[in-house]
Amino acid sequence: MASTPFELNGKTVFVAGHGGMVGGALVRRLAQENVKLLTATRSEVELRDQAAVNRWFAAKRPQAVFLAAAKVDGILANNTLRAEFLFDNLAIATNVIQAAHANGIEKLMFFGSSCIYPKMAPQPLREDTMLTGPLEPTNEPYAIAKIAGIKMLEAYRSQYGSDFISVMPTNLYGRGDNYHPEYSHVVAALIRRFQEARVSGVRNVVVWGTGTPRREFLYVDDLADACIHLMKNYSSDELVNIGTGEEITIAEFARLVAATVGYSGEINFDTSKPDGTLRKLLDVSRLAKWRATTSLKDGIKLAYQAYLSESKQAGQ
Ligand code: GDP
Repeated sequence: MASTPFELNGKTVFVAGHGGMVGGALVRRLAQENVKLLTATRSEVELRDQAAVNRWFAAKRPQAVFLAAAKVDGILANNTLRAEFLFDNLAIATNVIQAAHANGIEKLMFFGSSCIYPKMAPQPLREDTMLTGPLEPTNEPYAIAKIAGIKMLEAYRSQYGSDFISVMPTNLYGRGDNYHPEYSHVVAALIRRFQEARVSGVRNVVVWGTGTPRREFLYVDDLADACIHLMKNYSSDELVNIGTGEEITIAEFARLVAATVGYSGEINFDTSKPDGTLRKLLDVSRLAKWRATTSLKDGIKLAYQAYLSESKQAGQ
């Protein structure tokens, strides 16, 4: 049953999706807590397979779960791999949430995303605007799967008293990002593109869309810190947004990345690529007792360093 503060100390904690950017940051942050950490590779447990998930939970018996596993990519992947985004994210959410319930997990945190809010919802986006209007079409399948997960948590709390909570991070960046040239998110995509242009002496870099959309960016290690704070101190069926409360246009952001990387050539906008939603700034007032500590300028420097070391390791 729900109670706060939740005692993480001494608990067996499962981070589902530890290989991803969010899961990796949670693992780093949980190293500062006295917990027994459980992670699982896809060959140990395929999260889209309900029987496999049930077997794994019954054998490992975690007490707390961070459900950070998801199929997450940028605007182009979301818009093209629509069936995969819907199926994978629905399957992961239903399988893990049901297994957590069946195995008496004490606390679970589910990760949504700011794209669950209606495209035309007033900004900054408040949690209670979910399901008040149509979604941004480019990421509707992903958003629908995440909304289903949030509704499951709400239902399990109401029917079974499960202490399951949902958090909605804003656009994230940092260590362990995906640098795929087309399927990445904007931060990783631009770090890579500007760096490659600088190294090869190219004087023209293309940025997708018009440059006018605004985005809020949160450094993923700050997100992990907020999550540990909420896991310990929050228990409610109301979602919680996690962001910085600050936004920047894609054009300004591109200039910041160029400056960080040391690229001084031209920046051109490819308006044949989608802009996506024009703004998605989160209202972060529900998380009043926590503040992000990494500025965007510092965070991009850290993310650039991470890109350099990760691409070196990958032998690129
Ligand atoms: P979104 O917040 O779900 O739209 O996620 P993205 O990070 O994929 O895109 C954010 C914004 O950055 C959109 O307006 C994109 O059009 C813009 N953008 C500019 N260049 C790029 C790029 O190279 N890759 C991606 N993914 N987005 C880009």
